[in-house]
Amino acid sequence: MRDVLVVTGGSRGIGAAVTRAAHARGYAVGAGYASDDAAADRLRAELPGVVAVRADVADPASVTALFDATEAAFGPVTALVNNAGVTGRLGAFTDAPVATLRRVLDVNVLGTMLCAQEALRRWADRGTPGRIVNVSSRAATLGSPGEYVHYAASKAAVETFTRGLAKEVAAQGIRVNCVAPGTIHTDIHAAAGDPARPERVAARVPMGRAGEPEEIAAAVLWLLSAEASYVTGAVLQAGGGI
Ligand code: NAP
Repeated sequence: MRDVLVVTGGSRGIGAAVTRAAHARGYAVGAGYASDDAAADRLRAELPGVVAVRADVADPASVTALFDATEAAFGPVTALVNNAGVTGRLGAFTDAPVATLRRVLDVNVLGTMLCAQEALRRWADRGTPGRIVNVSSRAATLGSPGEYVHYAASKAAVETFTRGLAKEVAAQGIRVNCVAPGTIHTDIHAAAGDPARPERVAARVPMGRAGEPEEIAAAVLWLLSAEASYVTGAVLQAGGGI
């Protein structure tokens, strides 16, 4: 049976790299995105057969719609990558508006949980041995002082959620893992107010450079694959040594 994968934030950056890599490996992919219809159109043109769905992960009805649209196109979902994430503007924590704090927690934490619930409820009904990979950040461990400690805290929640959920559903044959990227070349840094951030932080990275989205996608695809059949509750660090 064909693997059917939902990737949140699958239209740009790391998520788009996951979409491409999964598509190349024969997965049917439903890629969610928040609002950038032009990027979704580019993905559809590049990868005919991939379904791109506008779906805010922080909204439960949108999450259900994302899974429904993917299943209408391809059949039962068998895997989920919780990749959608936002940082808010770079800066001191005391300056972060409450709307930013709320949105970062809503998208990164609640969104990850809502999508996991949606997948797990479907898998429980069907006895599907599904796999979930959450995308955290090395910020979860490093804390990101002066940049976005609220974002770092949200990613620590994603890692703890991964560990607990993995244990809770292991007996059902479901694996839950996490990839924690270091700084990766995507548009997220421009959105945070510093497009040159990857170059600025490269000196702090033991490998001396920022990473590429494809390097994170490869780790995600490995955790989804049967090669990782005895791996669950893991947080795989992909940060060039940081
Ligand atoms: P990105 O280039 O900004 O792309 C973000 C993607 O997520 C886009 O497809 C965006 O949709 C989507 N998205 C944003 N908010 C959403 C929402 N509420 N509901 C559904 N989709 C939403 O980001 P990225 O750098 O690839 O980051 C992907 C993940 O990796 C995030 O969880 C991020 O925290 C994590 N990460 C990134 C880095 C890094 O250095 N880049 C490092 C560590 C961890 P639109 O196109 O519609 O906006």
